[in-house]
Amino acid sequence: MTSEGIARTGNNLDPWYSNYAERAGGLAASEVRALFAVASRPEVVSLAGGMPFVSALPQELIMSSMETVMREQGPTALQYGGGAGIPKLREQILDVMAIEGIRGTVDNVVTTTGSQQALDLVTKLFIDPGDVILAEAPSYVGAIGVFRSYQASVVHVAMDENGLIPEALRQTIAHLRGQGRRIKFLYTIPNFHNPAGVTLSAERRPEILDICRANEILILEDNPYGLLHFDEPAPNALRSLDEEGVIYLGSFSKTLAPGFRVGWALAPHAIREKLILAAEAAVLSPSSFSQMVVSQYLSQSDWRGQIDTFRGVYRERKDAMIDALTEYLPGLSWTNPNGGFYVWVTMPDVLDSKQMLPRAVKELVAYTPGTAFFADGRGRHAMRLSFCYPTPEAIRLGVRRLASVVNGELDL
Ligand code: PMP
Repeated sequence: MTSEGIARTGNNLDPWYSNYAERAGGLAASEVRALFAVASRPEVVSLAGGMPFVSALPQELIMSSMETVMREQGPTALQYGGGAGIPKLREQILDVMAIEGIRGTVDNVVTTTGSQQALDLVTKLFIDPGDVILAEAPSYVGAIGVFRSYQASVVHVAMDENGLIPEALRQTIAHLRGQGRRIKFLYTIPNFHNPAGVTLSAERRPEILDICRANEILILEDNPYGLLHFDEPAPNALRSLDEEGVIYLGSFSKTLAPGFRVGWALAPHAIREKLILAAEAAVLSPSSFSQMVVSQYLSQSDWRGQIDTFRGVYRERKDAMIDALTEYLPGLSWTNPNGGFYVWVTMPDVLDSKQMLPRAVKELVAYTPGTAFFADGRGRHAMRLSFCYPTPEAIRLGVRRLASVVNGELDL
């Protein structure tokens, strides 16, 4: 690097510092990402990441799906495809969504590179710098990252054990409107919330829709965990109650495997064309190979039975986590999810989950600090624990270690 380069930037680590677009300032390494490196050491019990337990999948069946695709349609699988995704898979996605009461047409389904890309595309389509996105408090760290990268202003709306609170939504909208702010959409994870572990009640769903309709606010419904319930299925999707005001996002990451990177958006007809154009501009087409293997897997496997297997695995792990919290950390409070991957733990105000993390890692347990899930610095007294990946025994051990850290901090 030349000394001129250093002078140009005022930052001696990155000579291009002053050349970045303003929106690059919104790109910060998430707290979860920094943790992955630490938590992947084998001696650490990681309650931090959200990695599905893919070892529960029928590996042979996936291998044979790949083989069938290559044998029967190799050249197509290895070629570029259409920007909206392959029609056969989009038909099958309609069957998956029908389980949650959603009706749609193949035309309005767009397959994406994970639902994460759908989040990016929708934000790109709707957000100018400074526009407001409403999101639950707390919300998915990966969505907050996308919203920031488009310079959105994320405003959180309170939730409780029944999900987003309609009255809080009403008040937040009125307050923002009073300030002349532009609210573009409500981002919500109604089922088995990441990170809060709660589900929006059936009673509240029509009310949330009414409020958004009355205020001309689009809803972005993100539902990757919806089919992973432990007892009762989740109430029907918001999209099943409103076809014009909701963009629905789904994913095969949790019901099959994230490695395929296949998710989808079901958009109102008016939006779908723009979504396809944005997808084409971003990636030309989603992976033909991945889509075709997923499609073949859906055709030749008992995928509903496989989802039942996952539900059993995660249910056992969730029970292990709740039992361990009850036994080892009776002084804290936590959510008890009916599905999904996560428990949200609230600690006494004197404890700071971010400050406490290095000590926890020293004690060989990792979690995600609550601050990762807020755009406004809140969450210091909370943490997300995930039960999807470690075995029940490891979960017990992890929570026991966590208790010794918490009690150490409290000087018990
Ligand atoms: N939304 C939520 C709420 C998630 O938890 C995740 C994955 N952690 C995603 C979207 C992205 O999933 P994918 O891109 O793998 O479909």
